[in-house]
Amino acid sequence: MPCVHQSVLIVGGGLAAQRAAETLRARGHHGPLRVVCAEPVAPYDRPPLSKELLASGVGDPSFRPASWYAEHGVELLLGRRAAGLDVARRRVRLEDGEELGYDDLIVATGSRPRRLPALAGRPNVHVLRTLADARALRAALVPGARLAIVGAGFIGQEAAATARGSGVEVTLLEAAPVPLAHVLGERLGTWFAALHREEGVRVELSAAVDDALPARAGAPVESLSLADGRAVGVDAVLVGVGVVPETRWLAGSPLAGDGVLVDEGGRTVIPHIYAAGDVARPFGRGRCEHWEPAARMGAAAARSILGLPAAAAPPESFWSDQYGVRIHLVGEAAGADAIDVDGDLDSRDFTAVLRRRGALVGALLVGRPRDLPTWRRRLAAESEPERIAA
Ligand code: FAD
Repeated sequence: MPCVHQSVLIVGGGLAAQRAAETLRARGHHGPLRVVCAEPVAPYDRPPLSKELLASGVGDPSFRPASWYAEHGVELLLGRRAAGLDVARRRVRLEDGEELGYDDLIVATGSRPRRLPALAGRPNVHVLRTLADARALRAALVPGARLAIVGAGFIGQEAAATARGSGVEVTLLEAAPVPLAHVLGERLGTWFAALHREEGVRVELSAAVDDALPARAGAPVESLSLADGRAVGVDAVLVGVGVVPETRWLAGSPLAGDGVLVDEGGRTVIPHIYAAGDVARPFGRGRCEHWEPAARMGAAAARSILGLPAAAAPPESFWSDQYGVRIHLVGEAAGADAIDVDGDLDSRDFTAVLRRRGALVGALLVGRPRDLPTWRRRLAAESEPERIAA
């Protein structure tokens, strides 16, 4: 039975939370709806934080104007952090001691950046997850400044591209011999390294950061020491070495762990508790820390609360913007054993078709955003027999 009058509490105020709230209201939920978010601002979009907002320092990435929440009866509790979950009493405890009850709970606390202990507590060392992080990093992007980016994943690469656009001297440090090789394979990973070198980024591979100088705790970092003895002089450092699901507040509950397990409707193992977004781990798959699945899972959790069936999931997709080129990954590239390239790698205009044991598993589109719907359809059609067989 649809539970349109029950109270729903959403913990976390990012994309998944926003989509859940919007879907609940759009689909007829009339009960109390509260969103508790540790950040002091209303839900906003994160992709601009490494792209246009980091480039210009201006812009408002809010999903909705402030009036939307009042108009839709969504109570935002901002700057409030959940600190514990009491499953038996259906209560969430906040850091300030207040307890919030719920009929249905959506866990949407996203993920937090991994940190490097060797760089902890240094004022010129940044991460990039929040609006506040983006503003702090933006202030360091002064023409001629030396920025070292630790980690050549998508966030590190996007920040490198944006920083180059601001006239910053960028060194990209990657511990692996090929960036993104675990996601895209060696050939495409090598293409990304070349892309950044062409744009004047110093790309150092097999470069593990070991230490920072001066060694004095709390002092700005002047130089990074690499494991092989090399040193990199810096004015600022961005650490982009991945994220971990934000489940610390669930410690002691049955949901604690490396991501909250969910089915396709966002249901966890505990009745009336759902999870969505970066914090969720779909059964039988890994976590997906991207925009499209976070939005879809937020809507799916809301639909489950209302007794509606889950909408069919399209093939996973992800985008990145670097040096004015839009890059899309549809499907999955990990484990592909063959890559066919259509187009020209040098002119940043190609499609890399990824196959595993002859079957299409994904496509990387570089500079070809119009082809995205076609590849989505092709991948959905190819995986159809698998779904029917499952
Ligand atoms: P989040 O957006 O992280 O929101 C979680 C919220 O919960 C946060 O506001 C957090 O403060 C809050 N919270 C955490 N703990 C608590 C607590 N205990 N109590 C209360 N609140 C809490 N994806 C793409 O597909 N393409 C891109 O180009 C792209 N670019 C990106 C660029 C950047 C800089 C970043 C950081 C991410 C990017 N992503 C991109 C990833 C995408 O933005 C995320 O996958 C998406 O934001 C996940 O949404 P979420 O709601 O699960 O988590």
